[in-house]
Amino acid sequence: MNIEKDHVVRLHYSVSEAGGEAIETSRDREPLAVLIGHQTIIPGLEEALLGRAAGDRFEATVAPEKAYGERREGLVQRIPRKHLKDHRLVVGATVVVPTQMGPRPVTVQKVGLSVVDVDLNHPMAGKTLVFDVEVLDVREATAEEKDHGHVHGEGGVQHGRP
Ligand code: ZN
Repeated sequence: MNIEKDHVVRLHYSVSEAGGEAIETSRDREPLAVLIGHQTIIPGLEEALLGRAAGDRFEATVAPEKAYGERREGLVQRIPRKHLKDHRLVVGATVVVPTQMGPRPVTVQKVGLSVVDVDLNHPMAGKTLVFDVEVLDVREATAEEKDHGHVHGEGGVQHGRP
């Protein structure tokens, strides 16, 4: 079964910056389950998955505009330190802060006594990323999954049953 829209794909991946160290991998945890065609992963990775099948292992290079976008200047925000008290506040560290658009990873830029300056650019913004992807299995999404726009069951959203 070749991957297309409305398929559910389970995969393992590692991602690194082009020519750099690995940034993140799924291989130390459960595989990622993706509903194709519903903007749940970056566009460049989704495009690279189309037409693949279970058992395929491949590398995909994704430019910033198909990943997390270009870095933007002027996205520094000052946050009261008490809002970040659970985090290790080291310059360059990634911390997740609550925003109006939901939790968002930001980069610590400057640590003051009572405030912290963070860069709101996504930590991977402006970077060309290289994904090492292994497709584990592929199935058609259920009508309910297509309706909800996400995967149910293993690796997906577990809705409580009434
Ligand atoms: Zn759902």
